[in-house]
Amino acid sequence: MAWIDDQLVARGIRDTRVLDAMRRVPRHEFVEHETQGLAYADRALPIGDGQTISQPYMVAAMTEALRLHGRERVLDVGTGSGYQAAILAELAREVVTIERRPELADAARKRLDSLGYRNVRVLVGDGSVGYVDDAPYDGILVAAASPRVPESLKHQLADGGRLVIPVGPPDQQRLTIVCRDGDRFVESVHEGCVFVPLVGAEGWPE
Ligand code: SAH
Repeated sequence: MAWIDDQLVARGIRDTRVLDAMRRVPRHEFVEHETQGLAYADRALPIGDGQTISQPYMVAAMTEALRLHGRERVLDVGTGSGYQAAILAELAREVVTIERRPELADAARKRLDSLGYRNVRVLVGDGSVGYVDDAPYDGILVAAASPRVPESLKHQLADGGRLVIPVGPPDQQRLTIVCRDGDRFVESVHEGCVFVPLVGAEGWPE
């Protein structure tokens, strides 16, 4: 698959488990019918309700940042099409994914179910405050832009857990990684990115 080499390997994605997951998950099943021809293009695509499925490279880079080995429980905030959740489901033991728009959550749940993913649960709600019932998580991935790192998400990380989230103003964010080390939270700021807003109690107001 040339797109894997051109878009992911060439830009520095090295984790072979992540690359294999990107090869396996049928991205064309997660985009709208009219844009199926662009499913593997180097870009984000519309998924309805003004929301987007992230560019493949961004999905791979955020997933790689979680350093999954296969036994983790992961929280995915902003289910959208369910594509990111499917990638995580290939790499972790259990995925909880949360979406604030019920129509998107319903469509994603059906899609993931028909593709045979049995280790993903799709919930409707405000993921800016995480999902405390199933905490702690070994990894938390947020696919929507937040003005700051939500405190709730930090505190739902397991010891040694990692959170990846785009942080910054609506037009330009930086990928931010928070690693929990006991009572300490070590934050690092990485590449620039643009995501739709995280709307909720610890994100942006409606
Ligand atoms: N990961 C998705 C793309 C995410 S787009 C995929 O693979 O297709 C961002 C999504 O976050 C949108 O669907 C949007 O409705 C959702 N969102 C925004 N704020 C949210 C919040 N507070 N809680 C849960 N979902 C949220």
